[in-house]
Amino acid sequence: IPGKMDNLNIENDGNASQNGDENVTPAEFSLMRKALRSKLIHTTNQVDVFQNDPNNPLYSVKSFEALNIPEELIRGIYDMGFSKPSRIQETALPLLLDKHRTNLIAQSQSGTGKTAAFILASLYRVDVSQQEPQIIILSPTYELALQTGEVAKQMAKYKPEITIRYVIRGETLPRNTKIAEHILIGTPGKMIDWALKYNFFNIKKISVFVLDEADVMIDTQGLRAQSIRLKQYLPKSCQMMLFSATYSDEIMDFARQIIPDPVVILKLRLEEQSLDNINQYYIVVRNEEEKYEALTNLFGTVAIGQAFIFCETKISASRLVQQLRKDGHSVGLISGDLTVEQRNEALRRFRDGQERVIVATNVMARGIDVEQVTIVINYDLPTNPETRNIDFDTYLHRIGRTGRFGKEGLAINFVDGDRTMQMIRQLEEHFKRPIKKLDATDVDEIE
Ligand code: ADP
Repeated sequence: IPGKMDNLNIENDGNASQNGDENVTPAEFSLMRKALRSKLIHTTNQVDVFQNDPNNPLYSVKSFEALNIPEELIRGIYDMGFSKPSRIQETALPLLLDKHRTNLIAQSQSGTGKTAAFILASLYRVDVSQQEPQIIILSPTYELALQTGEVAKQMAKYKPEITIRYVIRGETLPRNTKIAEHILIGTPGKMIDWALKYNFFNIKKISVFVLDEADVMIDTQGLRAQSIRLKQYLPKSCQMMLFSATYSDEIMDFARQIIPDPVVILKLRLEEQSLDNINQYYIVVRNEEEKYEALTNLFGTVAIGQAFIFCETKISASRLVQQLRKDGHSVGLISGDLTVEQRNEALRRFRDGQERVIVATNVMARGIDVEQVTIVINYDLPTNPETRNIDFDTYLHRIGRTGRFGKEGLAINFVDGDRTMQMIRQLEEHFKRPIKKLDATDVDEIE
């Protein structure tokens, strides 16, 4: 169906072998999205709320002031550049902060403000008169835990009496230590060890339990069981919340195992990607040299915004990057050959505008959305690794924009023979949108 696709599709479906073992885990994709994203994704869709107790009145807030939170936290939020609650926050925050300590299961697309919501709720719940852990936040990986901790530190900037400790790989404590920090952020296995094996803190004193990225948790060996185990030791009075970017029956089963009597907030329908605001072009080239030349021509002309260039394999991507760098262009690379840190560093530099161009492989392109990118160049068109046919979903995911107010975009495809020309025709037919021809030597006509 044109226009419909699961843009949270983060699996690494068999592309790995085709691209020489680009194994990217769901957790890594999640991290890449976070590294690339500097802004909230604006959603127009309403959220659906399901609650067991219809007598419990639901209300939503349009401002942070209306939430009755300490002034220091409001200042922290404004310092982060937030002016009003996002769509999911409008509904979730009143529940998370209420005196009933409502349990929550919330699903909404990545980038919609879930992390900010549970960090705020966690900071709000801390009793600074007690020097002991009160909040547990579980993340699927070391890197994602660090990322969450960074957000917490930023938001708590004006409340320095709230303390945070990571419970992740590499952190060690002498036996019989008693942890004094209020908020523990870490991975399930390490949290179990510290709570149950070493007794570094009293799990019965935990008043808020957050399980983040539930969809990644259940996809990662062992984390589901560990999370459930840990939950069993929490006191009955503990407020529990679970967040997921995607929805499935499996995730909901897991969520209900963890969270008793929850209010459930769902955004089932994903925002539809659309090609409405995208000008699509193709450039015909005869060989690799011409292709490269046409690309560098584009660089000279298209000075606006930032560009993503997609290549078929990691070898072709890294060759292209080498060549571009040799010719004096400043470009970043995202491929499976890089470490997680290197990839995220490249995405961060791109996000901050230090590099205007990123070259990425098809595999990498699947899991990250390039909302802020104005130009997408399909140096190689996306194909299904098995059938070698054009992959409509990936094409749409790469170049499509979310929502009616998404900014204008530009997509340029390279055609180097009959096969790729055929694919352009198929794309036009499938999406019912023209893809215009562009002369390789004259790119001035780009709108
Ligand atoms: P999620 O956890 O759903 O992926 P985040 O909480 O990480 O989403 O938010 C995504 C981005 O939007 C972050 O850069 C965050 O700083 C920003 N953000 C979150 N809430 C707001 C808000 N109310 N107003 C503006 N920006 C926000």
